[in-house]
Amino acid sequence: MAKATPEIGQLQPLNAGFLIITALLAVVLGAWHLITQPQVIAPFIGCLVLYLMCGLSITAGYHRLFSHRTYKASNLAKFILAVVGSANWQNSIIEWASDHRRHHRFVDTDNDPYDARRGFWWSHMGWIMFRSRFHDDLSNVKDLIKDPICAWQHKYYWPISIAFNVGVTVGLGILTDNILGMVIWAGLVRVVIVHHTTFFINSWAHMFGAQPYSDQNTAKDSTLLAFFTHGEGYHNYHHAFETDYRNGRMWYHYDPGKWLIALMSYTGMAWDLRRIPDDMVLRRRFEERRSHLWLQLKDWGEVWETWKEDMAGVAMETQDALKNHLVTAEAAIDEALSELRTTRSAWQKAQRNRLPKAEIRSLNRTMRTAQHTLREALNEWERMIDEYTLTMAAAHA
Ligand SMILES: [Zn+2]
Ligand SMILES: [Zn+2]
Repeated sequence: MAKATPEIGQLQPLNAGFLIITALLAVVLGAWHLITQPQVIAPFIGCLVLYLMCGLSITAGYHRLFSHRTYKASNLAKFILAVVGSANWQNSIIEWASDHRRHHRFVDTDNDPYDARRGFWWSHMGWIMFRSRFHDDLSNVKDLIKDPICAWQHKYYWPISIAFNVGVTVGLGILTDNILGMVIWAGLVRVVIVHHTTFFINSWAHMFGAQPYSDQNTAKDSTLLAFFTHGEGYHNYHHAFETDYRNGRMWYHYDPGKWLIALMSYTGMAWDLRRIPDDMVLRRRFEERRSHLWLQLKDWGEVWETWKEDMAGVAMETQDALKNHLVTAEAAIDEALSELRTTRSAWQKAQRNRLPKAEIRSLNRTMRTAQHTLREALNEWERMIDEYTLTMAAAHA
């Protein structure tokens, strides 16, 4: 990957000071409160609930709804997400989405505001502390500028944010008779936690984890990170398929963001949820792994040749047998992929033409079977690759 040519803008003392001071205060006051005050349960619960609410407003609102338009939402839903999102002190939707769209479009280049090639701290929070050359360029969020709720939130960002934070934390404090505890935990500590868990998506998620869908950029999948970011940790998937309302694609992936959106759609507050079809995702995973395998084989080619000469017959047989297996498995995957594509288009056509429900249900079942067959074939193929690479690694050693 090309080396970054760092261009550090002018220091923004307000941003830098704010990020550093809030983090220090959260640690000092949090520890002080924990040691000296007997009542910590209610502030802890307040902190947890607000962390979930405010974090989800970034995940389901700022990110998946406003930045990527992965679903449509009612004005009430947009209003709630905009107001709760203001509480996070991460700028207005318009500014946040502008940086984020630029990040996706120019990922890992000098035009990426949180370019991960510049190191952990730059992508985590350094980029916020210095004035970027894109600061006033909102040309990539014209749709949001036209949206009355986003425009309103942008204009009154600070009054909304302060009113929410003061109103909710002091209100909870009065209810639980512990204003100081609530302000420290549900206010200050929560803001800092949401800050850094969001920032981790730009730093950690571009450094540590797996790349099942693409190694063309630095984005990685991390289940552990998904746990702290309400599902945003599946970042390799997200960069590969940014229009999907899910980041955790499988039902068992921890992704409260997608569950909230699904719940909103169930209540009629959200609709047109966009999903990338399974066959497209699995094809990407298959092609990604296959390209790696061939690179690895090329890499081992010479060593393999020498080893083969030494070992002659036996090894040849092992290699050939495995290679044949691989070819057969790949053919099975190709077949399963095209089967799934055919059933998916038949199913879509049946829905468009409003065929009888029973017919659509039956096509749906066929599609699920095809998906299952494909997943099995892919797993089998991946097992085979592991076996093959193990044999090769033994030869390599
Ligand atoms: Zn994104
Ligand atoms: Zn990213």
